[in-house]
Amino acid sequence: MNLELSSLPLQLMLLNKSQKEGIIMSQNLISEMYCTNCGNRGINIPRRSGHYRKAGHLKKLYCIHCKKECNHVEIHPFFTHYNYEDFKLEIKYNNFNKDGERKEPYKIFKNNLRKRGVI
Ligand SMILES: [Zn+2]
Repeated sequence: MNLELSSLPLQLMLLNKSQKEGIIMSQNLISEMYCTNCGNRGINIPRRSGHYRKAGHLKKLYCIHCKKECNHVEIHPFFTHYNYEDFKLEIKYNNFNKDGERKEPYKIFKNNLRKRGVI
């Protein structure tokens, strides 16, 4: 099955869990990478099937906006446990230090925002 990446989320919704996993595990997928320093989207990273990183994974890459090496956050367009909205929260509420490392693990960071009534 050859799925266009742009139509993947919609098509995945129509499938059951094991069908989804089969497709996810058999496809080479493109990860979106977002810079922890400037918040802009960088260059996509292709991931071979079976070599996916957890969404939210940090990877040092050259940022085309900052013009230097910065940690980037990896986002899979169809994995829902960490998406672009999650990344925006981390940028907005400053969860990355100057080295692009997380100050708090994302789950803890998000729980703290909830406790403080921010989100
Ligand atoms: Zn940047």
